[in-house]
Amino acid sequence: MPIVTIDKASQLSLPTELLARLGLRTGDAVSIEVQDDGLMLRKVVSPKPLSDSFSRNSNHIQSEETQTLKDTVARKNLETRMQFIKGVGPKLSELLSKRGINTVEDALYFLPLRYEDRREVRPIQALRPGFTEVFTGQVITSTSKTTKGGRGFFETLVGDESGTVVLKWFNSNATFMKRIWKTGRRGVFTGEVSQFGYQREVHHPDVEWLAEEQDVNKVLAGDPVNFGRIVPVYPLTEGLNQKVMRKVMREIVDLFTVSIQELIPKFILNPMRLPGLRDALRLLHLPPTDGMLDELNSGRTLAHQAISFDEFFFWELGLALKKRGTALEEGIPFQVTHCYTKQLVKLLPFELTGAQRRVLSEIKNDMMAPHPMHRLVQGDVGSGKTLVALMAALVAVENGYQVAIMAPTEILAEQHWHTIHSWCSKLGLETALITSGLKGKEKAAVLARIADGSAQIVIGTHAVIQEKVEFARLGLGVIDEQHRFGVLQRGILRKKGINPDILVMTATPIPRTLAMTLYGDLALSVIDELPPNRTPIRTQLLFENKRQQVYESIREEIGKGHQAYIIYPLVEETEKSDLKAAAQMAEHLNAEVFPDLRLGLLHGRMTPEEKETVMAAFKAREVDILVATTVIEVGIDVPNATLMVIEHAERFGLSQLHQLRGRVGRGVSSSRCILMTPGKLSEEGEKRLRVMTSTTDGFRIAEADLEIRGPGDFLGTRQSGLPDFRVASILRDGAILEQARQAAFDLLASDPELIQTGHVPLRKELLRRWGQRLELGAIG
Ligand code: ADP
Ligand code: MG
Repeated sequence: MPIVTIDKASQLSLPTELLARLGLRTGDAVSIEVQDDGLMLRKVVSPKPLSDSFSRNSNHIQSEETQTLKDTVARKNLETRMQFIKGVGPKLSELLSKRGINTVEDALYFLPLRYEDRREVRPIQALRPGFTEVFTGQVITSTSKTTKGGRGFFETLVGDESGTVVLKWFNSNATFMKRIWKTGRRGVFTGEVSQFGYQREVHHPDVEWLAEEQDVNKVLAGDPVNFGRIVPVYPLTEGLNQKVMRKVMREIVDLFTVSIQELIPKFILNPMRLPGLRDALRLLHLPPTDGMLDELNSGRTLAHQAISFDEFFFWELGLALKKRGTALEEGIPFQVTHCYTKQLVKLLPFELTGAQRRVLSEIKNDMMAPHPMHRLVQGDVGSGKTLVALMAALVAVENGYQVAIMAPTEILAEQHWHTIHSWCSKLGLETALITSGLKGKEKAAVLARIADGSAQIVIGTHAVIQEKVEFARLGLGVIDEQHRFGVLQRGILRKKGINPDILVMTATPIPRTLAMTLYGDLALSVIDELPPNRTPIRTQLLFENKRQQVYESIREEIGKGHQAYIIYPLVEETEKSDLKAAAQMAEHLNAEVFPDLRLGLLHGRMTPEEKETVMAAFKAREVDILVATTVIEVGIDVPNATLMVIEHAERFGLSQLHQLRGRVGRGVSSSRCILMTPGKLSEEGEKRLRVMTSTTDGFRIAEADLEIRGPGDFLGTRQSGLPDFRVASILRDGAILEQARQAAFDLLASDPELIQTGHVPLRKELLRRWGQRLELGAIG
């Protein structure tokens, strides 16, 4: 990219390369037009006559070049490092960097946490408790004091003609404060007013000192950034203060909002009354005097919406483009021969549910198509996804292809392998299990069977996508419990074959908005029916004092020939926490509570073989009670287990509890789940656990969970594939997300490759922002 420099004599020199491309030669005249978003250079057309076609042609090239140049300059401006901004030295830029602000663009998107109404200066008498107010006054007294509890604080009394108010600071340096808060000093104060009995107080106010004889009104008028308006309050780190931040932000907004490109077509924004990005950002950093304080504070102004829309729009556009991309790729047109699938159905001791059949036919249609399948199967815990995956796998095998099935944990991979292997051996098919525990010769042997194609169905953890694993002919990749993996892993699995079909499965019912964001490029199937004869799980919330009763229940259930789980949140007791760790508790239960019963222990620090042994024993009913940590959370299937006790249930997320609870209620006998808590619960904690006792509907639980915890925690892992939106919130802006998705998919329907004139910059921006994340490289 050509760089234009300004030399010491303030001369602008254009590199020859650029001159050549613009068709400029030494001696040519160039007009410079200052526009609100950059400079427009135009060659002053010489009076020499030119042939018509040539002139049209060169004008065309010229305007496109100028546009590119303008865009480049704008981009470069936004990428300006903070230390080059007026008033920002190395020290300040380091502090800003701690808050993730490295460039001008970062700063523009660094939105205020809240806003303070400083439009009015109030007489002290009229200060309203509960509001952040601005007032002026004089220090009357200042003293350091101690509370009844022995906590030191500093207090001053400030007054004006109308009355007085107490200002307080906790944890302050008294000597330092005494020096500053001298009797007689006048200032402008800002802070939240609170009322204690008859006394109004302001804690940790902001102050702007006035010099002697200085007129308050002049001072206020002379500082339009901090007074006489609604002022932004930024989330800061230590060492940064609001005043400095406001000054810097104002500078940046004034100089750089013009460099922001307005790319989303007006015909999309206008019907929603959304402003462009420039206006939106400017408004949020420098709200107008008639701004709506409440809307600003709740993040619901049109300006907020516009920025969220922009972020969602580009993300959804990427998903739409990706979805279209795979729809165009050449895939494997499988034939459904029913050779193995029919046989399996005959072997099953039950009938497929209607939902399983419907989803299977959706999958088969995809598999028969000459383009790669990208389908998400969503089905609540216990809805029978494994079988659906196996049936799909058999279709691929019938066509002479291999299948890879990837599960998030070793235990789950092993369990899948057991289930699938037992069916497949009856069909005369070869399977292989590959986990990270596999070493040496054994591993080499498995890898060889995968590479020569003799292993037809390969099951494993993420070990399946390790570099060394090479498939002879991968036709289908299945990812179980997709939310545990990221988009990246999906991509790597895909590359293990030549455009194989991909099936992803999730038991975490994902709320619609989140699903649109995470899996918007996938087709969706829902298994919305549980196999028959399942009796609903009864869930109770019990406190510590009912422990004996809980132990009785366990005994009772085992007396009926059933089995039970007891779940603990941790493996080993840490010094700080009072959690009863699984290991210690298992010992205690074994020795003192259930000496006559058979206990097994399962936790994350055991080796794969150890875990395998315990699970096998539990499945074979050689163990009555399985004491475990959350390693059993996903997918474990032991229908004879009918009671689940979850200790410290308050420590788990709702979706996690739902998954855990899903380990029971898998057979014909009625099941119970007991959530134990130590007694005192926060209001939020109680609310959460009440969701569990009131419903077993995974979708309702997921919605509640998402609301309580937010998307990042909800998904559990950093690499969950959730894009890092700077402003947009999936929770708050669900409606905007839907609109953005619609707009993006509509736009792509009208211009599938984004090649129409106005859309090219959209495509460029899309690739810049999300290209890598969405693996859109090829589309550029
Ligand atoms: P999930 O959807 O949670 O992965 P699984 O695939 O583990 O559920 O299935 C749960 C249990 O239901 C398994 O024991 C499985 O054999 C059984 N199952 C699957 N489909 C049916 C069906 N159509 N009728 C009865 N039981 C079924
Ligand atoms: Mg499963």
